[in-house]
Amino acid sequence: MRRLTLTAQFGILSAVLIAALGIAFRADLFDAITLATLYLVQVAFVARAARKLRLQVEENEYQALHDTLTSLPNRTLFRDRVEQAILQARREDSRFSLLIMDLDRFKEINDTLGHRNGDLILQAIGPRLRGVLRDVDSIARFGGDEFAVLLPGAANSDAALRVASKIATALSRPFMLKGLTLDVEASIGISLFPDHGNDVDTLVQRADVAMYMAKEAHAGFEVYAADRDQNTPKRLALLGELRRALENKELVLFYQPKADIKTGKVNSVEALLRWQHPEHGLIFPDDFIPLAEHTGLIRPLTLYVLNEALEQSHLWQQQGLTLNIAVNLSARNLLDAELPDDVARLLDTWHVDPSLLKLEITENTIMLDPPKALEVLTKLRDLGVGLSIDDFGTGYSSLSYLRKLPVDELKIDRSFVMSMTQSENDQQIVRSTIDLSRNMGLKVVAEGVETKEIWHDLAELGCDVAQGYYLTRPIPPQELVEWLEKPIDAPVLEKARGRKQASGLKGL
Ligand code: C2E
Ligand code: CA
Ligand code: CA
Repeated sequence: MRRLTLTAQFGILSAVLIAALGIAFRADLFDAITLATLYLVQVAFVARAARKLRLQVEENEYQALHDTLTSLPNRTLFRDRVEQAILQARREDSRFSLLIMDLDRFKEINDTLGHRNGDLILQAIGPRLRGVLRDVDSIARFGGDEFAVLLPGAANSDAALRVASKIATALSRPFMLKGLTLDVEASIGISLFPDHGNDVDTLVQRADVAMYMAKEAHAGFEVYAADRDQNTPKRLALLGELRRALENKELVLFYQPKADIKTGKVNSVEALLRWQHPEHGLIFPDDFIPLAEHTGLIRPLTLYVLNEALEQSHLWQQQGLTLNIAVNLSARNLLDAELPDDVARLLDTWHVDPSLLKLEITENTIMLDPPKALEVLTKLRDLGVGLSIDDFGTGYSSLSYLRKLPVDELKIDRSFVMSMTQSENDQQIVRSTIDLSRNMGLKVVAEGVETKEIWHDLAELGCDVAQGYYLTRPIPPQELVEWLEKPIDAPVLEKARGRKQASGLKGL
């Protein structure tokens, strides 16, 4: 306002000056002065516009580096601050700590009180933490109910544990929300520079590992412990390679058919990941999925698999082949509140009907945080995606719990199926699982079907679908198309030839 007035005053003064000078001097001098005055007025306007632009840039910068809900620094700004802390610690030969914090049972609050109230709690976390932290400490929100804290002054695990304990106490004071008293608990993981890592990624990843240890142990907070982390140096090297493999598309999907046990028709396939390593050749998922699961890498890996599988579905549909594709999920995927949106986006990108995608989850996957898993599963089901319980019989979930899950298929673990002809006990498990599934209205799949004998036994027991080496091992997509076309000798598979035509494969 004051500046505007100044500009106006300046304009009036200039005009008066021009008029006076116009009378007093010759015309050409008058012209020169007019030009000079106009120039000065222009400079004033440009300065104002530049100031406005600068404010706008600052505003954009702020938004790019802060979380909109809580106004706390976001992951990008936090990374930057940790990088600065690393540089400073190196210069001064000092140490610092980093905390990753995830709220426990936050989904229950969201579910019972709604997202708006959940948001109010998230907004209250920052000020609560601020109350027990020093000015030099940084708090960030990584998304969802995950927060991170940088403690430049906590040079050893004792100091970091003291702060974690203070944070836990601060959060244990109930939150008041619209007359309700709410308890919020958190699991906190701690990593130390340079003991647990020399770069931001490693420090964050290890604090994350410690956070999961704390969550699993219901311990509140834990410092990263190398001996409890299955990531040995050799595995860490592999982890680095796995990150690159994702970028270089060295990870490929093989497909294994699931056939209707009575008709032999193949309507669906399971996508199984393989790593085509440039030196070590084909690596099987059991050798690298657990590694990805113990680090943050399982998220991009699962998105990669979903993207590849849905692109394949799109390509097959263009060839007139409609197959339901099953993709495996890991426990941590079900803690990822963004997964349903990611799945919806990918279905949209590849124009795949949600009913053509099935997600396979194990009982143990759900048990890490059942309420959170249930929320994610329900959202996925609401999208129209099919859900299947994998490796059934190996976990400890109760029947009453399974009833609550929005699943439509149950897969009997291959260990029981493979030995059902030798072990009375395993046959009993297979039989009761089939009965159980039928009572619950679930489709039942037997995996690990290696022989014709087992196939027939399963058919007699009332099993719906079979998957296993008896049909084929998992094979690359092109081979699968050829396999579907190829005439096969086995009696049960002769029937399967009929379904190839039904799948629209004939003439491919
Ligand atoms: P799973 O989901 O139980 O997958 C079935 C596994 O059984 C596959 O091993 C398959 O090759 C094997 N199999 C199929 N039929 C037979 C049979 O008749 N006999 C025997 N002995 N084995 C059979 P694979 O491909 O090595 O996968 C192992 C596990 O790795 C999978 O077990 C799954 O838990 C995990 N996995 C594979 N791909 C992915 C993925 O994309 N994401 C995630 N999160 N996990 C994956
Ligand atoms: Ca599976
Ligand atoms: Ca399985």
